[in-house]
Amino acid sequence: MQIIRGFRDILPDNIWIWQKIEREAVKLFKDFGFNEIRLPILEKTEVFARSIGEVTDIVEKEMYTFPDRKGDKLTLRPEATASMVRSYVQHKMYASDPIRKFFTIGPMFRRERPQKGRYRQFYQIDAEIFGIAAPYADTSLIFLLNELFKRLGLKDLTAHINSLGCPDCRPDFQKALLDLLESKKDELCVNCLRRKDTNPLRTLDCKAPQCRAALKDAPSTIDFLCDECKEHFAIVKKTLRQQGVEFIEDKTLVRGLDYYTRTAFEIQTRSLGAQSAVAGGGRYDLLVKEMGGPDIPAIGFAIGFDRLVEVMETLDKKVEKETLDLFIIAIGKPAVKAGYLWSTNLNLQGIRTEVDYRGKSLKALMKRADKLSARYVLIAGEKEIKEKTCILRNMETREQVVIESDKIVQETIKIIKNNN
Ligand code: AMP
Repeated sequence: MQIIRGFRDILPDNIWIWQKIEREAVKLFKDFGFNEIRLPILEKTEVFARSIGEVTDIVEKEMYTFPDRKGDKLTLRPEATASMVRSYVQHKMYASDPIRKFFTIGPMFRRERPQKGRYRQFYQIDAEIFGIAAPYADTSLIFLLNELFKRLGLKDLTAHINSLGCPDCRPDFQKALLDLLESKKDELCVNCLRRKDTNPLRTLDCKAPQCRAALKDAPSTIDFLCDECKEHFAIVKKTLRQQGVEFIEDKTLVRGLDYYTRTAFEIQTRSLGAQSAVAGGGRYDLLVKEMGGPDIPAIGFAIGFDRLVEVMETLDKKVEKETLDLFIIAIGKPAVKAGYLWSTNLNLQGIRTEVDYRGKSLKALMKRADKLSARYVLIAGEKEIKEKTCILRNMETREQVVIESDKIVQETIKIIKNNN
């Protein structure tokens, strides 16, 4: 049997990278005052259709949507923000305190064309801030992302930022863009021809060369910002500079979803080829209200966990191989039984211990100890059991000590912990 196309098993071989990233991220989130929230992976389709926007690639083409047995239309979540807002509104979290900072980590589902860095089930690390309109919410998220990547040892990353304006400044921009698209319609790709009528903003990040050429002098949202949006964006940029966060102001950064307002940002890398965005986010000041809540601003980001792991894998770093503290070589039934009991007690004390129950020879078991990269081996043969002693061997220095059987657990712990 084979796994579904675009889905992957994340195997124990490199799970340590996933765990390391998660540890660093959770620590930073906690230090910056974010609380974890866990959300379902299945939601009513309308949660995504209404928030992400009916005419976006995700909603039009990529969602896993199906009726359940009673005919309700359900969707495997393609992103976390919509569910986050649904939860914030449903539980009226704003009533006791509108200011909330959440993070969540989990799988998302999009039926895109699978390739390296793009999967149909992928993972995101997601953070959102509700209730803060000030530009410092924007800078704190970008700063946090930057810090996380720094702590993970990543260098080749660039933050791209843009401002998409608000309902006050969008109409003038949209008119200017539509005028241009109309005048260039013979030069656009078929997708952009469609986008012109459905979601014109998306034409600005089309990668097709003919669209790039036709739209090279396209108006950009930042040229149309109202005074308030202008000031907001200016503070974001100035603060990031003060905090030493490098960024590029990128007029073509429009992001794929309808709900963004003002600051939009993306962290890009050159080490992953076509799938260059490692994280993306932005402000969505209108979404809480659109989803039935009060008028509360919000902003968030999503890190592509799979891609972050892939960037980490390109680093020339030593692979953290799992090692074993102790391998018990037990020969004969009484020794195997004793070995099992010792190993459980040692495991309880934080000593990674394994025993082999297959009744193999000393030579075969020494080989296995090597294969498992055991730091120590405890040899309990028939002779040793009779004499009520065992041999503890340091596999690196080859030093051996004899330990009395009834002191195995304490003595082994002492020796192994002293040599850590
Ligand atoms: P988005 O929700 O589209 O802004 O995506 C946020 C981040 O998730 C992107 O920057 C990517 O790193 C990652 N991402 C999005 N789609 C996929 C996918 N199909 N496979 C792997 N990672 C993805």
